Amino acid sequence: MREPLLYMGLAVSALLPAAYVYVARSNPQGAWRRLRMLMLSAVTAMMLLTGGVGDFDKITLSLAFPALAGAYMVLNYHFGRRTVDNLLYGIHGKVHRVSILSSPIPTAFTVAITGRVYATTGLYQRLAPEEAAAIVAHEVGHLEALRPVPSTVFVVVVAVAASALATGVASLLQQGPVGVALAAAVLLAAGVSWVQFSWAWEHLADIYALEAAGAWSISALYRITGAGPEKPRLARAYLDTLRCLRPRGGRGVAFLVNPHPRPGYRLYLLEKLAWRTGSWG
Ligand SMILES: [Zn+2]
Repeated sequence: MREPLLYMGLAVSALLPAAYVYVARSNPQGAWRRLRMLMLSAVTAMMLLTGGVGDFDKITLSLAFPALAGAYMVLNYHFGRRTVDNLLYGIHGKVHRVSILSSPIPTAFTVAITGRVYATTGLYQRLAPEEAAAIVAHEVGHLEALRPVPSTVFVVVVAVAASALATGVASLLQQGPVGVALAAAVLLAAGVSWVQFSWAWEHLADIYALEAAGAWSISALYRITGAGPEKPRLARAYLDTLRCLRPRGGRGVAFLVNPHPRPGYRLYLLEKLAWRTGSWG
């Protein structure tokens, strides 16, 4: 165990929800840059925790890469077989390909490990084409928010860190009550960092969609969530972060979906940004 790294990791992760509230409520002009900083701080917290207690044993590491390559191929094959069409979207001078899946469920998602964006036929049936395009822009925004790191590289780094952390936590659990308490603290801190990373990531994708598709991105969010803007508050942000750590039910892939901030917080930031910068239209 490397104590200084561990304690720094615990401290940084404990401050993340407070930093989130500060970023969400501050001047929207610098929101993109501040959210990226928040994302980086969350990754730093995860890396400090991994450096503090992580155990990079050779067997786990050598298994991680074939497992990831397998997941890459399985997901590509699975969604590739269900793809009925491809659409090209030009966003900020770059062409992005979106694969259309045949499904009545109106949804779009990004598979980070393969770096591909998917949307369903149901999305185009239920929403106006402009709103559907705004949602697709949001998904592309997830990939753009990680720049310059390709999403596949990002997933590999997180997966290797997570497996090292899990090995370290497992060995802490065998070191008596103090070890168990430390293991619980590390798991909680890693969870909080992941949630905060995801929240920042979600807002960044929203901002990207607002810049690409204007007010359609906001109307789509209203329509999908049925929420209203809500100013982020400190105590509630901590509570919501912990809530996001609960195991989520639903279909098999629910645990693969990154935790989202309250829809009201997303609308709050988007509305503030839209009014300040005049992105309506
Ligand atoms: Zn998203």
